[in-house]
Amino acid sequence: MHRSGRIVQAGSYPQVSTAGGSVVGMQRRTKIVATIGPASEDESTLRDMMAAGMDVARIGLAHGSLDEAIERYRRIRRVAEQESRPVGILVDLPGPKVRAASFGEDPVRFHPDSTVELVVGSERSTDTVLEVDYEGLMDDVLVGDTLDVGDGRVVLDVIDKGGDRLKVRVIHGGVLSGCPGVHIPSDRLRMSTPTPSDFAALDAFIELGVDMVAVSFVRSAHDIRRVGTEPHPRGPLVIAKIETRAAVQNLAGIIDTAGAIMVARGDLGSECSIEELPHLQKQIIQQCIAGGRPVITATQMLESMVSRPSPTRAEASDVANAVFDGSSALMLSGETAIGTDPANVVRTMDRIAQRADEEFDYELWAERLAELRMTDDSSHDAASITDAMTMAAWRAADGLGISTILAISGTGFTVRSMARFRPHARIIGLSHNSRTVQQLTLSWGTTPVLVKDRGSNEEMVRQAVAVARDRDFARSGEIVGILAGADNRSRSANVLRLERVP
Ligand code: PEP
Repeated sequence: MHRSGRIVQAGSYPQVSTAGGSVVGMQRRTKIVATIGPASEDESTLRDMMAAGMDVARIGLAHGSLDEAIERYRRIRRVAEQESRPVGILVDLPGPKVRAASFGEDPVRFHPDSTVELVVGSERSTDTVLEVDYEGLMDDVLVGDTLDVGDGRVVLDVIDKGGDRLKVRVIHGGVLSGCPGVHIPSDRLRMSTPTPSDFAALDAFIELGVDMVAVSFVRSAHDIRRVGTEPHPRGPLVIAKIETRAAVQNLAGIIDTAGAIMVARGDLGSECSIEELPHLQKQIIQQCIAGGRPVITATQMLESMVSRPSPTRAEASDVANAVFDGSSALMLSGETAIGTDPANVVRTMDRIAQRADEEFDYELWAERLAELRMTDDSSHDAASITDAMTMAAWRAADGLGISTILAISGTGFTVRSMARFRPHARIIGLSHNSRTVQQLTLSWGTTPVLVKDRGSNEEMVRQAVAVARDRDFARSGEIVGILAGADNRSRSANVLRLERVP
């Protein structure tokens, strides 16, 4: 790997300790989001998953009751506190997600060419009648439509319509279990997002101080504005899930309005032709990073590990390629929510992502980014100052071979802007705001650290350098880069200092 004319060996980075205290070689830079479900909600599994590298725990609200989700939330917070780890919590609002009623305990096989009926309902599905929880089923689905069930595990063609039911032919057979999603083309769905039940859940989790909320089936920036929470970090970081055709068309506005983005490949893969999906993934990621927004690549990353101890070769490559695309974070869904060994899945993703991080072409990425300009809806002035300062920090760190950048930030904006350059240097994101620290768990290459109140630039810098030395982020005598505001009235990081650690 070439860096400033020198060859840097993969894995030759300084030994550093994580926020949780364990010591590793080159740290993984790409973050891991893991979904918590029945297989992973007990305290000991949560502890194992945190030790294995889970940075953010995702609670999906599509299954189970709100009370169960709140109980999960409290347990994750408790365990993270006991483990002294900043673990972000992301609550995923299902939006107008249409689901089939449960198949009960046992998975059900659908055979190609067999015919099945679809009716509105939420009691029980079988291999002959699928109950679907969407009142508009008979009006919004047309003869000739193709419906994906369970992220494409089974594909159905609508062949007839009559009375209260649709008749469908199985064109791709497979096995379904639980309450699989039924993909109805989003331009037909008459429900808007967030839905009334999303808002009820959102209120409950805002009260609890949730770090991030994901909004499903977003179609435009308007859907994100409808969430109506306070801007982060006072409110949660709002993550727009890109899974509709309209969202792809309105991507620039959505990125501008949202705090972060998720490439929700499950539904997006049903909305667009499957051969488009890898290219959409790359385009969405590039636009997000240019805008300084963390981006999560999600769904079926290590799918076979729901029931197996190791991934397929294709899955291992998918994880590495998502890192090379520039993902800030990678997400596990069913693998950790209902899989047989959630901690093993996180460990496996940790290993593959860490190895890919070593091979990532940092120079090419940063040079490309340097051509682009970042904006933020908080203030375009402050954004352009931060844009210039983080670029200066990246160039200085790269030119001098600095291995630690201390970014002091109230809202996390400076840290996220720094991360978009993918510097070789490790980013320590320091904030006096505990919510910001929790939200930075999603940011690429960032170790979030809570520090005391803001003071003068001199005091903040002294405190940051002391934290770096005391927590072994940097050694005595080493030069570190520090980004901070000139004083506590500064609206952006407008001072870059290069200091030797005493
Ligand atoms: C997806 O569709 O890829 C996704 C992440 O959303 P959900 O898990 O809610 O289906």
